[in-house]
Amino acid sequence: MHEPSASTRELLAENETLRARMAYLLEQAERNHEIMCRHQAFDLQIVGAGSFPELVGTIFRTLPVISELDIVTLSLVDPDADIYTVMHRLGVDFEQFPNLMFCEHAVELGFDMSPERRPRPILGPYAPGQHCAMFPHPPAGLQSVALVPLLRNTRLIGSLNLGSADPGRFTPSLGTDFVEHMGSIIAICLENVISNEMLKYIGLTDSLTGVYNRRYMDRRLLEEIARARRQGYRLSCVYIDIDHFKRVNDTVGHQGGDDVLREICGRIKAELRMSDALGRFGGEEFVVLLIDADLENASMVAQRIRASVAATPVELSSGERVDVTVSIGVAALSDFARDNAIEGVAQELVASADAALYQAKAGGRNKVVTFA
Ligand code: GH3
Ligand code: MG
Ligand code: MG
Repeated sequence: MHEPSASTRELLAENETLRARMAYLLEQAERNHEIMCRHQAFDLQIVGAGSFPELVGTIFRTLPVISELDIVTLSLVDPDADIYTVMHRLGVDFEQFPNLMFCEHAVELGFDMSPERRPRPILGPYAPGQHCAMFPHPPAGLQSVALVPLLRNTRLIGSLNLGSADPGRFTPSLGTDFVEHMGSIIAICLENVISNEMLKYIGLTDSLTGVYNRRYMDRRLLEEIARARRQGYRLSCVYIDIDHFKRVNDTVGHQGGDDVLREICGRIKAELRMSDALGRFGGEEFVVLLIDADLENASMVAQRIRASVAATPVELSSGERVDVTVSIGVAALSDFARDNAIEGVAQELVASADAALYQAKAGGRNKVVTFA
């Protein structure tokens, strides 16, 4: 065997180096492919989110894992707290999302808002004083952050805030294409899901007073009866009608009448528990479903509502004051109905409360009558 010549050795060494280089590139390509697949799966997951909590839940749970981040937070621009209020009323539990923040004005997010430029992501070292609003609960050892503007067309709807314990993860010189792409998908999903939830809310509520509408109450009543039967708790129905409301309208005008309706709703709500449901059934008629309340509990609540309405005149937006009273009928779900169809039981419960209300009217108004 001949010793390989110097040129052959050189070729072999070069070959080795090239192989190693190839292996490294292949590994990088595989890694990038894997990251891309994970992000594509994430994109599909958030595009498919059916509700606000499902979307933000996925962002907070999945994004740190697939992007190897130590924290992800989200700030949403919510000028009149509409998003917060609607989500809260739809039952979203914000304690579940400690890294979800709302701010009143887009400028609070800290991006360059000059009109001729699009806000750009801000990448750099983590500075506790500067970033405390974006990271209210920073993990120990947080080193670098990316604040990604969430834009819909040119409107800034929020900020996606990413944090890493690696100081080299987000530096000002780094390209921002990837985080911008992520931000644009998240922004679309957020806007979609928020407008869907808003529509859902509008379909369930009365636009004048903001309480539930009749459609919602009818459905809720069926659910509550089924649950009350399953779990064996009491359910009561309170039917409220404003006394001589025609006269109120005649005296203070329709606008004044609307003010009265809103104020009465507020006074009713103040006497209820979070679990109770208040709905506007018709013009000046309201129904409350009291969860886990028997006839006696419910008539106590009804008496409190009656007294609170009668105690203080309603102040209208015009500054005028008007005395208002309500009559109330109360009925409780009765045990003997257990075997009957839920729809019939629901109708009977409301009809009983309405019959008691009729007696309260006949008995002189500003009264509570319980269905016997
Ligand atoms: P009663 O004590 O017997 O209940 O007398 P009432 O005048 O309240 O009785 P009625 O149910 O006949 O009158 C209800 C009035 O409520 C009639 C209608 O003009 C008024 N109304 C219904 N919807 C609205 C509304 O959205 N805004 C205002 N301002 N008035 C309304
Ligand atoms: Mg009426
Ligand atoms: Mg009335």
